[in-house]
Amino acid sequence: MLECVFCNILRGEMPAEFVYEDEQIVAFRDINPQAPVHVLILPRKHIPSTNQITPGDVGILGEMILVARKVAEIEGVADSGYRLVINCNEDSGQEIYHLHLHLLGGRRMTWPPG
Ligand code: 5GP
Ligand code: ZN
Repeated sequence: MLECVFCNILRGEMPAEFVYEDEQIVAFRDINPQAPVHVLILPRKHIPSTNQITPGDVGILGEMILVARKVAEIEGVADSGYRLVINCNEDSGQEIYHLHLHLLGGRRMTWPPG
């Protein structure tokens, strides 16, 4: 695997502002927030994108959504609302090839997304 920014963060080699972590999943603030609340939720396991998920990963994927729910509560946006986004490959604008869920909240979102 080539150098992965998120694996570096997970190994503690790069700093990040964590809001949640457990055995399988971590959540930290996006370095370039697109909303007042912008948290990235990812598995400790390096999976490049949704194109590489397998049936064996369904537990991890479920945990990611459960952590998103917890983070929304921690960040105070559970009631006001939030958006969960996973980008995959070039057309989506995926920058980091370590699967992650964006949790965006704290402002009114528009649709369709850009
Ligand atoms: P993607 O476009 O791959 O779905 O999202 C990658 C996200 O990671 C971007 O929103 C970007 O701002 C964020 N990001 C990139 N490098 C770092 C970093 O070193 N630390 C943190 N906390 N976020 C990062
Ligand atoms: Zn990685």
